Amino acid sequence: MNNGEILTCALCTNPLREGELNQLRISNDELKKIRDYQIKKTFDAYSSRTRGIIKCPNQNCLWIAEAADPNERFRVTCPICNKEFCSLCNQQYHYRTTCQQLPQITQRWFFWCQTERGRYLTMRAQQDAAYATQLSDYNRQNNENENRNRDLRRRYDELMNDEKYKADNCRLCPQCKRVVQRLGGCDSMVCGQDAHGGNLQSGCGAKFNWAQAQQYNAAATPQPKQVILDLPKPENPVVHHNGVKCDHCQNDVVGIRFDCVHCPSLTYCEKCEQQATLDHSRENQFLQQQQHVFKLIMVPQEEANQL
Ligand SMILES: [Zn+2]
Ligand SMILES: [Zn+2]
Ligand SMILES: [Zn+2]
Ligand SMILES: [Zn+2]
Ligand SMILES: [Zn+2]
Ligand SMILES: [Zn+2]
Repeated sequence: MNNGEILTCALCTNPLREGELNQLRISNDELKKIRDYQIKKTFDAYSSRTRGIIKCPNQNCLWIAEAADPNERFRVTCPICNKEFCSLCNQQYHYRTTCQQLPQITQRWFFWCQTERGRYLTMRAQQDAAYATQLSDYNRQNNENENRNRDLRRRYDELMNDEKYKADNCRLCPQCKRVVQRLGGCDSMVCGQDAHGGNLQSGCGAKFNWAQAQQYNAAATPQPKQVILDLPKPENPVVHHNGVKCDHCQNDVVGIRFDCVHCPSLTYCEKCEQQATLDHSRENQFLQQQQHVFKLIMVPQEEANQL
């Protein structure tokens, strides 16, 4: 072997990383040892990795753990930095929703708080005098709402940037459907780690080819008009969510149902939602937590199951 020969990956012709190339300033024997070791290591990564890893998404934190079932969605609390996240998408842990649903749910909640709450309450008040209170509360709490919306907009903008970034740069692992990013190296991927052993992300350990993997499709894209298209219309009968109680007024939920996706169990009816979610938002602000997102549910559970 010649001095100055560039080490390549055992599976492709890509040169090894900078740190590994620096190893060239040593004797040929040593170099051969390192090269064999590199090949073995790359090969091992491919043949023996069956379990997945979970990595703390906090960039400044190095915590990594092996996951018994990396395909499962569960709540992880990092024992080092205390960050709480979803094992599949790395976002703040979300209940009763898939990772794929989250961008659209967030977008709908943002539109609701921006413009749609006002539009809906105006519509309802015209039809039902009992909503006059909600509408006047809405107008009275304009400042409070705007304060909340500023925080929510930050969350929404981050989400949209993230969606765009993922659509441009990421693919889906064929096994666990995680959004995987390739920072460099060749097309031979191990979910959670690139072929060259660096670039650790959470992953299931499945081997796949980058070029053949499915591209990430943004689940939410910016909308020119911030409207919710399936808002209940005044001419249709009001929906009853049988057996679902509002955690604020304790009555059965009638109309739109609001579920917090970031709390284990928290539901409000459309009459309480404005005041109750504002209080919830203040609590989270006080705890220096991100704004929680509420999912708007228009169709009762039993009907949704039949669809
Ligand atoms: Zn951490
Ligand atoms: Zn998730
Ligand atoms: Zn390679
Ligand atoms: Zn995977
Ligand atoms: Zn209520
Ligand atoms: Zn919550």
